[in-house]
Amino acid sequence: MMNTGEDSFTDYLVRVISREGSIRGLACVTTALTQEACRLHNTLPTAGVALGRALTGGALMGALLKSGQRVALKFEGSCPLKKILVEADSKGAVRGYVGEPQADLPPRDGKFDVPGAMGRAGFLTVNKDLGMKEPYRGIVQLYTSEIAEDLAWYFTESEQIPSAVGLGTHIDPEKGVLASGGFLIQSLPSQKEGENEEMTEKITLRIQSMPSVTETLRDGSSPENLLETIFAEIPCDVLEKHYLAFQCTCSRERMERALITLGKEEIRAIISEQGGADLNCEFCRRFYRFNQEELEGLVL
Ligand SMILES: [Zn+2]
Repeated sequence: MMNTGEDSFTDYLVRVISREGSIRGLACVTTALTQEACRLHNTLPTAGVALGRALTGGALMGALLKSGQRVALKFEGSCPLKKILVEADSKGAVRGYVGEPQADLPPRDGKFDVPGAMGRAGFLTVNKDLGMKEPYRGIVQLYTSEIAEDLAWYFTESEQIPSAVGLGTHIDPEKGVLASGGFLIQSLPSQKEGENEEMTEKITLRIQSMPSVTETLRDGSSPENLLETIFAEIPCDVLEKHYLAFQCTCSRERMERALITLGKEEIRAIISEQGGADLNCEFCRRFYRFNQEELEGLVL
């Protein structure tokens, strides 16, 4: 990826660890990739905000993986938004879509009503392809349907890692996505139980008294600034910094494989009813056309 150093919409993520090793922190800005996702899926503001927050959560979780591993998050609720699916890898490639991009609700208490659009009842499923035989899967109920709190609940409940998550996406109905980003703070198992608790408490208090992620980013703060605010006097070291981008892994070969999984009978039915098949990638909306001859090749 190109970076001129002047482009304020270059997305990136920073990962740090406290010097004694018991608390890790990640923060990122995802404004450009959220803009791209909202453009591709033609979202209305509430659906766009929900998608932006989920993509940011995916980027943060991806940064905890090793090279070659992937994570998929599925938020499924009972309301108009239906679901959000996000996938990310360790190198900063993120993709995602929302079930109903035209879902939009009036603001509630001056905030985007993501819980209203998602529905309070539902599930968050996390699938991790760790390169093992069986993928890892964790499921929790949606906690508040605000996305960030659901992720924090998932980490604490399913992975048993006490975590604080802050996600923010701001969309102006006229101007589009103005800011998007977030942070993830996790308390790691430590020898010095007491000391760790004290630090976690300090950090928790600071997060509670901080302005929202969206406000912080709109004021021009960087991911580094976010982490400085959260960690304050706790010394920490930067472990990694990488760019983030909306990037899809779809290809003609993958679409072909998806067609094959329909079964020969189903493909023959498509040939006789429609001749060819027009497919859109759910994640990036890219269009793939398979003509009759190509479909016939799949059922030989
Ligand atoms: Zn795609």
